[in-house]
Parts: sequence; C-alpha cells; structure tokens
Amino acid sequence: MVSVDYLRISVTDRCNLRCIYCHPSGGCDFIDREEILSFEEIHHIVRLFAKCGIRKIRLTGGEPLIRRNIVQLVRQLAGIAGIDELTLTTNGVLLESAAAQLKAAGLKRVNVSVDSAERESYKQITGFDLLEKVTRGVYKALQVGLSPIKINSVIMKGVNVSQIPVLAQMSIYLPVTVRFIEYCPTSRHTRPASNYIPNSEVRRTIEDRFGPLSSVVRGGGNGPALYFKIGNSAGYIGFISGMSRVFCRSCNRLRLTSDGKVKPCLYSARSYDLKELMRSGASDQQMLNLLKRIITEKTGFTKLNSFTEEFCMRKVGG
Ligand code: SAM
Repeated sequence: MVSVDYLRISVTDRCNLRCIYCHPSGGCDFIDREEILSFEEIHHIVRLFAKCGIRKIRLTGGEPLIRRNIVQLVRQLAGIAGIDELTLTTNGVLLESAAAQLKAAGLKRVNVSVDSAERESYKQITGFDLLEKVTRGVYKALQVGLSPIKINSVIMKGVNVSQIPVLAQMSIYLPVTVRFIEYCPTSRHTRPASNYIPNSEVRRTIEDRFGPLSSVVRGGGNGPALYFKIGNSAGYIGFISGMSRVFCRSCNRLRLTSDGKVKPCLYSARSYDLKELMRSGASDQQMLNLLKRIITEKTGFTKLNSFTEEFCMRKVGG
C-alpha cells in the first residue's frame, strides 16, 4: 500500500488572478479572515503531521504569494524535523520579487501555472495582462535555483488548444517540465464540462508537431503525472490526466484547506475539521489520534466514491 507522506496546504483562498477554470463567478464566497489558519497554527499542524510520516509539503491556494509574510512561513516550515521537501505552486505574478527570498528561506522548488504563452489568450484566461511578469518570474526562479520548475497548463476546448505546441516547445529550450493538466469541471460557475479535452488528444497534437514522445520515469513514479521527452529537449513534458485516468490507488496526498480542514481526497465530500479541534483546546495527542485515523482511512476515499458535491479549487488548494 502507498505510504501517505505528502500534504498540500492552501494558505489562502484569495487569488490575484481570476482564471476561468478555477475562480467561480459565484457560489464560492471568500472565507472570513479569522477562519483562516494563522502561521502558528499551520506550523503546529505540520509538526504533528511530520510525526505521522508526512515528509513533503506543498504550499498552494488561492495564490500563496499574496499571503503576507509567506517567506516567514516557508522558513518556519522548512525548519521542522522530518519535512524533507517544501515546495510551492504559484501563478508566478509575484515570483520575480519573491524567488530569491523563498529560496533562502528553504523552499526547494516551484510549480508555475501558465495556461497560455500568448499575451491576449493569457489575459482572456486569467483576467489580467500579466504574462510578461509571470515569464520574468519563471526566469528568476530558474536563476535562483528553485528547480526543477514545473509549468502547469490546463487546456480547455475552445479556449487554449492552439497553445499546446507553443507550451510544449518551452520544454525543448528550457530545463522545465511542462505539464498538461486535464480540465476538471468543479462547479457550474466555472467552465462547462464540454470544455474538457483528454490528454490523449493533447499528446496527439504535440506528436503531430514534434514527433513521437519518449517515455521517461521520474520522481519515484508515485505522483499522478506521466513524463515524456521531445527528442533531446532540455526539459520534459508531463500529463496529469485526472479525468481520463484513475490513480487513486497510488495517491499519497492529503489536503489542508485554508480554514483548517483536512481532505483525504480532492474530490472528497468528507473533511475533518482540525482547526475546530485545535481551537477548542485539544491536546497534541488528541490531534495526533485524528491525523493517524485520517491517514489510515485515506485509501477509503477515492474519486470514485467521494464526488458528491461541487467544490471550489482555490479553497481546497489545487
Ligand atoms: N494560484 C496558484 C496557481 O495558479 O498555480 C495555486 C493554486 S491553483 C488552484 C493550483 C493548480 O490548480 C493550478 O495548477 C491550476 O491549474 C489547477 N486547477 C485549478 N482549477 C482547476 C480545474 N478546474 N481543473 C484542473 N486544474 C485546475
């Protein structure tokens, strides 16, 4: 059985972009500020998780770089015994100015969401004319060694299919992994389910342009992505096919929402309110008992049995 050693933490449900596939125009209110976990609370929770075998932490959101003093949180978490890998997923808008400090504070690497390499379509998807700023952020992250960098691209029919070759091409010239993430319809307020396009089609488009991809095994093979290379490119291509494949049996990750709930599965309707327990004065032992139970029960929650409600990606932490 896979060991559960990975925790994703949404440090805020706020974001400085309005991506059409993620940020619902309605139906997903912002969480009250006092309900958001403080740095001390996150630190406390991660220390307990580390005692239960969690070794990898990814900070996400919302947009983690808009959380005030995020560098301080990175420094605190990087110092916790047992945490071997601290990473962050960002839209890259604030990366250029933060990259060096994040690296110095102990962050290992970043994933950056870039759904288009063309200014107008980037603006159409995210709501903001910020592609150039994001690009500078990616170069800065490469420069300070927040690598290997992964570029995450969600491809949607009728929106950015034309961007597939140019995004894939980035992996030829840059030592980055460009990952194509299947669009997952999460709420009726985002994009219609008909915008979904399977990664088999994305792959075909790439191969039509650049020739057959060669398969590579990377990163212990435990994550949901499958990796490939175009010829002897500097980087890699990855496919995360959350819709067309089921990888629940090898899923090693838990999620902590910005308001302190643990979700055993992204799609899970069930969550465990750790913040409530902590703020009601529970002892470390009581919290550890709950964490151990969640880890033991995790394999019982899969996307096949849990998807009972709409959810908001920026709250859960994508
Ligand atoms: N703000 C950061 C960012 O833009 O990367 C972190 C949060 S974002 C929710 C994390 C990841 O979730 C991004 O890579 C994004 O592409 C992905 N994501 C969000 N909504 C999605 C959806 N409906 N289907 C597939 N991926 C989604």
